[in-house]
Amino acid sequence: MNNKQILPEPYRAKMVEAIRLLPPAQRRKRLEEAGFNTFLLRSEDVYIDLLTDSGTNAMTDVQWAALMRGDEAYAGSRSFEALEAAVRDVYGFPFIVPTHQGRGAEHLLSRSWIKPGQHVPGNMYFTTTRLHQELAGGVFDDVIVDQAHQPDSTHPFKGDIDLDKLKALVQRLGQDKIAYAAVAAPVNMAGGQPISLGNLKAVSDFCRSKGIRVVLDAARAVENAWFIREREDGYADWTLGEILREMCSLVDACTMSAKKDAYVNIGGFLATHDRGLYEEAMNLCVVYEGLHTYGGLAGRDLEALAVGVREMVEGTWMDHRISQVRYLAARIEDAGAPFVVPVGGHAVFLDARRFLPHLPQEALPAQALSAWLYEECGVRTMERGTVSAGRDDQGRDRRPALELVRLTLPRRVYTQSHLDYVAAGVGRLYARRGSLPGLKFVYEPKRLRFFQSRFCPLPAAAATGANSDHPKASAY
Ligand SMILES: *Cc1c(COP(=O)(O)O)cnc(C)c1O
Repeated sequence: MNNKQILPEPYRAKMVEAIRLLPPAQRRKRLEEAGFNTFLLRSEDVYIDLLTDSGTNAMTDVQWAALMRGDEAYAGSRSFEALEAAVRDVYGFPFIVPTHQGRGAEHLLSRSWIKPGQHVPGNMYFTTTRLHQELAGGVFDDVIVDQAHQPDSTHPFKGDIDLDKLKALVQRLGQDKIAYAAVAAPVNMAGGQPISLGNLKAVSDFCRSKGIRVVLDAARAVENAWFIREREDGYADWTLGEILREMCSLVDACTMSAKKDAYVNIGGFLATHDRGLYEEAMNLCVVYEGLHTYGGLAGRDLEALAVGVREMVEGTWMDHRISQVRYLAARIEDAGAPFVVPVGGHAVFLDARRFLPHLPQEALPAQALSAWLYEECGVRTMERGTVSAGRDDQGRDRRPALELVRLTLPRRVYTQSHLDYVAAGVGRLYARRGSLPGLKFVYEPKRLRFFQSRFCPLPAAAATGANSDHPKASAY
């Protein structure tokens, strides 16, 4: 794949949505009103929205047509049967519980399989996943390879689990203290880094030998399958669907945010080979999501999702998507700005530590960079650093090795000229990076603080030594 060129879009536009760029002074005002948190900006005030690829997908005409077929029956909806059949065919799991989105599935799983005090080893954390594990009384342990924490390591599978770390943990705690192993494919927080099939197989073999269950976070598993096909010996001739099914055959269950791979705007599911988990999750679904044949979704959402699940492994959707991400990275590289390598499948992650080396971690370099990028060019991005990492059980700020700003590409939404515009904005900001101040908290909510915290700029000269006991809603 030539990174300087985007594969021609495997689609044409049938409907468009107007966007507008506010003048610079208004962008500054909007940023202040939003407490320098891009999550608190109004969509109307954003020109190009790279906050997330979650639920921001453009659906196909076939998905739109399927919406009209939604069976809105409370119980036994035909649309659920369509979803169930699609997940069975594409992922290979026999048992499916629909949920309103990925965290709904994480909730059902965590409540079903974690006993208080049990540990959940995983390849780096994801925000909602870890919180649901903790709320169920679990303790998360990061067992990813060290290279995942190094933004310039070119390891091809930085999402791999370090088997020695996993074995040592099981040895230390005993297998009864392990609820299950949580494997994300790819690892969002590390920059969209894939896990190899060889590693997943080794993890699965080890866990099975110890009677430990394995759960896949499948939000972007098709992207992961694409990287396996590109990079891992022996899979060049496999289809994405074949690789995906192979991945799913190695685990006991998956949680799925369909707002990612499956090209819908809302939806998710828990899918499993395990009848016991299925029955427990189905029962909890009734309490927290809705009846087990709709899980918080409208029948039409289930229909669009059923089509999306089948389409996502077909054609050249994924080739095009990854060529877009690589193109954006190449343009940003031309501008000289630092980002995480290898580039993953859903986003380019700017390395805020290297972008703003004059800011110490307490000055929240990634949060600041995402704010200043909006001010510069009206492009919205997301912090993945100290703010996202939150506090530990002692109430202390976690200090992640990675301070990243994610430029996430919604699926089938933006064009090459949009990406050129984004890269030019990043380049201009990089050229004046030395003058960019850090931020400090002025408000911090108790949970998943990155969504709702508010900040204010530090004085440019006093960027160092920002205080770390910022105001909190209450102790964590
Ligand atoms: C988005 C995401 C989730 C959570 O899914 P939601 O649909 O946002 O609730 C879990 N894991 C990963 C890797 C994700 O990207």
